[in-house]
Amino acid sequence: MKTIVSGARPTGSLHLGNYAGAIANWLRLQETEHCYFFVANYHMLTTGFLDVSQLHENTGIVLAELLAMGVDPDKVTLFVQSDVREHAEFCMLLSMLTPVSWLERNPTYKDLMDNLDQPELRTAGFLNYPVLMAADILMYKADAVPVGQDQAPHLEITREIARRFNHLYDGVLREPQAIHISPVLMRGMDGRKMSKSYGNAISFQDTPETVREKIRLTVTDPARVRRNDPGNPDVCSVFDLHKVFNPDEAPEIRHLCQTAGIGCVECKKRVAEKIAAFHTPIHEKSRELLAHPARLADIAADGAKKAAAVAADTMAEVREAMNLGI
Ligand code: SF4
Repeated sequence: MKTIVSGARPTGSLHLGNYAGAIANWLRLQETEHCYFFVANYHMLTTGFLDVSQLHENTGIVLAELLAMGVDPDKVTLFVQSDVREHAEFCMLLSMLTPVSWLERNPTYKDLMDNLDQPELRTAGFLNYPVLMAADILMYKADAVPVGQDQAPHLEITREIARRFNHLYDGVLREPQAIHISPVLMRGMDGRKMSKSYGNAISFQDTPETVREKIRLTVTDPARVRRNDPGNPDVCSVFDLHKVFNPDEAPEIRHLCQTAGIGCVECKKRVAEKIAAFHTPIHEKSRELLAHPARLADIAADGAKKAAAVAADTMAEVREAMNLGI
């Protein structure tokens, strides 16, 4: 059994793309591995510190949706990052030995430096967020971390920090390996990558009626003008949904689309049925959890207690290795 660590940022309600790209993988991992999954609310502050008015609510929403999707607190340690204060202490200690040059070569940071529209994000916290990520991972001595291609450089910094710590002090940290997640292309209603920030996502807080309406309005192959025109499913957002939520029928849909054997209205209806069957129970269960905040708080508290026990052990080792205390 491997120890796995992974977090989800509380950007607000999760959407179908989040499920397909990350959470579906969590559900698989929880069956066979020893998993720590957390709502990464400290990470949210690295870019969202100017407006924290929704942070508390969004943290609850993401936790409720993870539970509703099937993340099982009896199988995994599920917690909210800021409930385990050791993450902040560990991040601070790891910052002491992390060269700034490692952080400056992080592609996300370099992109930001090139983006003059967001000068307010040039904070120490943003520069340092790969160290916070390292603290999250190294805290639980993860064997492996699921990463998409864009997160691979961050994991490499985590590995470098672990190596440097172990070299400087008495090695107590474990270098995690990457579990590479195959990218899932899921475009949103407007044909761009599904993302909350583009406003094109189908989220789990959308009502079933809104979900149907969003699918009805989703762009298809723009070259398919008439019902008799053959389509190209590879450029169509609706076909992305078929691949994930209607995989058994996707090959048939591909063929029918390419031969003009199905119209886009019918094609959308077919996937909307499948998505409704998947989405509605998650929507309803998460609404029910959110209506009982004390229950949600208990689940978060139990998870934090389990995580904090492990974090306390790691920090005791770290403090001793760094000769802290008297
Ligand atoms: S038939 Fe379906 S897959 Fe083909 S373009 Fe229309 S909506 Fe997209």
